[in-house]
Amino acid sequence: MPHILIVEDEFSIAETIIYALETEHFQTTHVTTGAEAIELNADNKYALVVLDIGLPDQTGLDVCQKIRKESNVPLLFLTARDSELDRILGLEFGADDYITKPFSPRELAARIKAILRRTSNKNNISNNTPHSDTGISIDTQAMTIHCYGEQVDLTAHEYKLLATFLSQPGRTFTREQLLEHAWDDPGSAMDRTIDAHIKTLRAKLTAVSPKCDKVIQTRRGLGYCYQSPTA
Ligand code: CA
Repeated sequence: MPHILIVEDEFSIAETIIYALETEHFQTTHVTTGAEAIELNADNKYALVVLDIGLPDQTGLDVCQKIRKESNVPLLFLTARDSELDRILGLEFGADDYITKPFSPRELAARIKAILRRTSNKNNISNNTPHSDTGISIDTQAMTIHCYGEQVDLTAHEYKLLATFLSQPGRTFTREQLLEHAWDDPGSAMDRTIDAHIKTLRAKLTAVSPKCDKVIQTRRGLGYCYQSPTA
């Protein structure tokens, strides 16, 4: 039974969501603040997080960014205002979907099922071949990365950088976005820091297999992008 974490400070809305999800046989946990959500999600036991944007202690967008540094749990935003939508749709925040209030509980449950179907397909692929000998695979629980069957010895920053790339192959990340994802205190680091880490990351991967020399591509004037190694 998938366990859904609901982060919503309005009890009437939370109750509606809980009722809708439990009717569909989901297990639910409800919290009202971002801090509680981040703490609970650290246990990695939720199949999905429903995250209100207007929370009392911090915005849902901030919560999402913090959660994204630690896990790839699917996220569905609840938004009350169109002005918030622009930011979500900027895709800066790594959410899987959003729904605008007021929403129908049935619609919400349907969206959640759709996200879980999408993401479980993805997870099954990586879980079935965690130490695949055909490319680069990540085990987000063990926080290890294997390249052609061999575990790559990475620093924390290198791991987080590569995990960020692997979460969205083909996406170009700016240096700023990479700092946000892989550094706890992005303000203390500089763009050049990213370049230096990318260089060592490329060297480590290429040392395992020459096929990896182009997996992290430089997009001039934009940033970096990950492409699976070609067999
Ligand atoms: Ca709210």
